[in-house]
Amino acid sequence: MSQLWSKALHELAPYTPGEQPQDQPYIKLNTNENPYPPSQHVISAINEFDKTRLRRYPDPDSSRLKQALAERYQLSIENVFVGNGSDEVLAVAFAAFFRQSLPLLYPSISYSFYPVFCKLHQIRSIETPLNPDFSIETNSLLQENGGIVIANPNAPTSLALPLSEIERLCSIHPDSVILIDEAYIDFGGESAITLINDYPNLLVIQTFSKSRSLAGMRIGYAMGSRELIDGLDRVKNSFNSYPIDMLAETAALASLEDEDSYQENLKKIINTRQRLSEELKKLGFAVLPSATNFVFTRPPDGNAETLYQSLKNNGILIRYFNLPQIDDYLRISIGTDDEIDQFLSTLTPLIKSGN
Ligand SMILES: *Cc1c(COP(=O)(O)O)cnc(C)c1O
Repeated sequence: MSQLWSKALHELAPYTPGEQPQDQPYIKLNTNENPYPPSQHVISAINEFDKTRLRRYPDPDSSRLKQALAERYQLSIENVFVGNGSDEVLAVAFAAFFRQSLPLLYPSISYSFYPVFCKLHQIRSIETPLNPDFSIETNSLLQENGGIVIANPNAPTSLALPLSEIERLCSIHPDSVILIDEAYIDFGGESAITLINDYPNLLVIQTFSKSRSLAGMRIGYAMGSRELIDGLDRVKNSFNSYPIDMLAETAALASLEDEDSYQENLKKIINTRQRLSEELKKLGFAVLPSATNFVFTRPPDGNAETLYQSLKNNGILIRYFNLPQIDDYLRISIGTDDEIDQFLSTLTPLIKSGN
């Protein structure tokens, strides 16, 4: 804290990403990145990019990328917004839509950036409880509100919410923006994009970070009615005119052109997820049915923190959340088959010896 800071800065509670320790090489299964590199087509597009162009500003509207996304999702370009990672798109959306007198609603266990954005934009919020099985309790989202945010599939629980529930919320609350954060949708679950033309209050946010192996490029996007996209543009153009740099746009366009590698990559991760879930169950873990690129699981003795620490001592990083209701669970990102094999061969003796 510093006297030089503005008053509001003292009130912030910044987000802490998963740890990236440098003391030894780790098998990193703690930040839900894609374990596989971007496809050769994407890498070639970046290599072939004419670097002399970098002296110019990029297209402030990222029209080519928006057009490519509109075509892929059968929308019009006016229904698409792009930003520097979906975290930035979320921050813009919170600023655009949720500074209301009524509180924003979101489930109590969800992406931990949502309360951070609320603090940043001074948004009042209510965290609604989950069902005991960790599914989202949509009845608690029926109350009056100034907006609703749902990660679907949810993080870190990995569970998908049926589209019918999202549609119910959109139709019950026509005067609220319903924001669906679909960072993991490509790994399972039903996307709400199909509802966009029916519900002008629905905003769907996705990212190139997870399913498209481009976390390092920072590309996220939102899709919704023209009315909502215009609202996002107003904030964006008051804040950052050029969120997508030229290399990021090049990589994103190449990724959208290469549907085959993308599908193959998804299939591999889903197969590994299945195998990991089964092996964990054999060891006595409770494993939630994942629709994401990670699993959320409870060790047989419930001592998640000790197991997290023992794995870290053995060079494997997973995510432990010291939070009520989930402090006996662990989140394990899906790695390559090799990484998951090494994880399992380190884990098995720890479980059999009681850590
Ligand atoms: C990873 C993640 C994001 C952020 O992704 P970026 O596009 O890399 O900023 C947003 N929401 C959820 C739920 C995530 O897990």
